[in-house]
Amino acid sequence: MLRPHTPALRWSFFSSLVALFVVAGPLFGDTSERQVTKLADGVYAIQHQSLNDGNVNGNTTVIIGAREVFVVDSCFLPSLAREDIAQIRQWTDKPVGYLLNTHFHNDHNNGNKAYLDAFPSLAIVAQEETKKDMDLIQPGNIERGAKQYAAIIAAFKQGKDQQGRTLSEDDQKQVRDLLPGLENVEAEFKTMAYQPPTLAFTDKLDIELGNREVQVKYLGRGNTAGDAIVFLPKEKILVAGDLLVHPIPYTYDGYPAEWVQTLQKMAQLEPSSIVPGHGRILHDKTYLYLVADLMQSAVDQVRAQIRKIGFPGAHSVDDIRGGVDLTQFRSRFAGEDKDLAAQFDDMAVHLVNIVFNGAALR
Ligand SMILES: [Zn+2]
Repeated sequence: MLRPHTPALRWSFFSSLVALFVVAGPLFGDTSERQVTKLADGVYAIQHQSLNDGNVNGNTTVIIGAREVFVVDSCFLPSLAREDIAQIRQWTDKPVGYLLNTHFHNDHNNGNKAYLDAFPSLAIVAQEETKKDMDLIQPGNIERGAKQYAAIIAAFKQGKDQQGRTLSEDDQKQVRDLLPGLENVEAEFKTMAYQPPTLAFTDKLDIELGNREVQVKYLGRGNTAGDAIVFLPKEKILVAGDLLVHPIPYTYDGYPAEWVQTLQKMAQLEPSSIVPGHGRILHDKTYLYLVADLMQSAVDQVRAQIRKIGFPGAHSVDDIRGGVDLTQFRSRFAGEDKDLAAQFDDMAVHLVNIVFNGAALR
């Protein structure tokens, strides 16, 4: 994995850049190459190339049956979705019959229209809450995206950041390297069109692709109100969406108490491979349990604090933050890596926020 040289810039700057564009998908500043992993005969996971330009693509999984193909998530940039489609056509001459959006964040569904254009009889599947969230949020996301990219590009060209502060020489140099990528993303947003799911489900959808059984399940709330997972019962492959993100979870919104239960139900499927929403393929349940333990600890500690202060709606999360300590988990996620440790700390702040906000809404 390639790493940029100035973590300070990454944190102050890139994470806020990305917060603008992706509903909840942080960037974390990593750059990585496109990687394809064969999980079984006819089952592939694609990790997309990631650059420091707000281009945050969720993983895509391709499941090929004797009659048709099932794809999980259409990523952030339509151009990359088209690359995936070209790759699929090299693997098989069968059409993509189903595209699942695991949740509403646009780093998993901006490419929907690219798939529908390529496969006109395609069904785009989502859990019903995900379809509602996409219908609410995604048209505006696309409209705002182009404008926000244009604004940031204009600021960079003047040597400034989004807040109009002058960037240091070093930062300006890095920003100049980003400009071509940003201009490309802006151009993609300008031509993007919202393509909603065409087939909504509530609890489950079992699909036979021809010699290949695919189970789509809603196991409860977690990262969003409508997370769908995909399970291949014969191959024991689980596609998790952003219920699992490796190496540091995404906790910018979601429902941690229920998330723990959803993760436990995922573990009960006894998967031998797990494709997370972002990051590398996992081959056992160790990381799943680690994420569940982290979230359970956050829930338990926040609840203990609420017992002390009383009705959370009358308080701010800052009233309890000092009483919640998740640092025991830091090295279990980050090892000795300082950048990952910083990402962990940032994630932990958000995790406490969403646990507290959820409690305040009860
Ligand atoms: Zn994502």
